[in-house]
Amino acid sequence: MAKIIVYNTSNNTLETFWREENDPMPYVWNNTMRVREFRGSSGSPTLWTTRQAMEAWNATRQTYGGPIPVGYAFKRIWEGGHGVTSQHYAGVSFDVGQRLTNNQRARIRNIASQLGVWGYVEPRNLTPTWVHFDRRYGQGACTTSSGYNTVFRGSRGAYVLILQDCLNTLGYATAGLDGIFGNATHTAVRNFQGDYGLAVDGVCGCNTWRTITNIVHANGPTDTTIN
Ligand SMILES: [Zn+2]
Repeated sequence: MAKIIVYNTSNNTLETFWREENDPMPYVWNNTMRVREFRGSSGSPTLWTTRQAMEAWNATRQTYGGPIPVGYAFKRIWEGGHGVTSQHYAGVSFDVGQRLTNNQRARIRNIASQLGVWGYVEPRNLTPTWVHFDRRYGQGACTTSSGYNTVFRGSRGAYVLILQDCLNTLGYATAGLDGIFGNATHTAVRNFQGDYGLAVDGVCGCNTWRTITNIVHANGPTDTTIN
């Protein structure tokens, strides 16, 4: 049984679902992505995504018309396997089509690009043997085209979940993984910033994101990681 947290970007709320591995992901059309496909090789009992990412999947899958095998989707940041600020850690990114032909992959890539529902579709020269698309949200704190956006008290969503995951892993408790940047997360960020020589403002912007993600990505889970 997986706990799945879905951030609904249209009304800024977080919803929690409990699903078996063979159940469809929440909001997915016609059983086209199961929990086990979404998690790929991730061993995490808790998964997260956004409703927008699921809807982008639905549009892509419906237009393509046939099965699209998912190789890799969600990972916790301390599980690694992707770049330090990968959208896979937000649960909004999919690597698909590993078992398809070049022509099939080209068609999926074209559909994903032309639909305009994804924030990014990786060009063929970067990933010739699979198709990566993601529904990134907002603008990155360090570079506008990638990474995670600046989050602060009152922020909600998948990027807050990544931040809470990092903070707890490093021993800065946030009163759970809920995707809501409340007082406990604010205090945790300030304490982390003070301990690591960063400006103590409780805002997770470029420097704080860069510092905390690099440490957690390199070091893996700890005794204080929330699973
Ligand atoms: Zn990818």
